[in-house]
Amino acid sequence: MDDCLFCKIVKKEIPAVIVAETETVLAFEDIDPKAPTHVLIIPKEHIPTTAELDHHNIDVLSQMGLLANEISRKKELSGYRWVINTGEEGGQAVYHIHLHLLGGRKMTWPPG
Ligand code: 5GP
Ligand code: ZN
Repeated sequence: MDDCLFCKIVKKEIPAVIVAETETVLAFEDIDPKAPTHVLIIPKEHIPTTAELDHHNIDVLSQMGLLANEISRKKELSGYRWVINTGEEGGQAVYHIHLHLLGGRKMTWPPG
């Protein structure tokens, strides 16, 4: 998608600190980190929200999860949180699915 911020990061049109990458998914540092580790893991394919996941593209969620685990191991995180916000009420600001990998501090519950 031409006007999607995260598609532009995939195409390297906007700089980002890349943490890891596979053929289908990309991980980069969040520009405004909410924890000592705050990595965003996205599909390279443009999928706006979790609501657009279906039988054809759901595999990408597994690939995002596997890359998140690889990063957590490398960073030796003892605990962490995965977050995916969906829609305006869910707190989503960028409409290209992203998994937040947050760690390096004690998380609180419930989230706001
Ligand atoms: P959301 O609220 O959609 O779940 O999360 C969007 C995330 O993208 C936020 O944590 C925000 O800090 C991050 N973000 C927004 N713009 C940029 C950017 O240009 N580069 C990077 N690396 N992260 C961004
Ligand atoms: Zn996109």
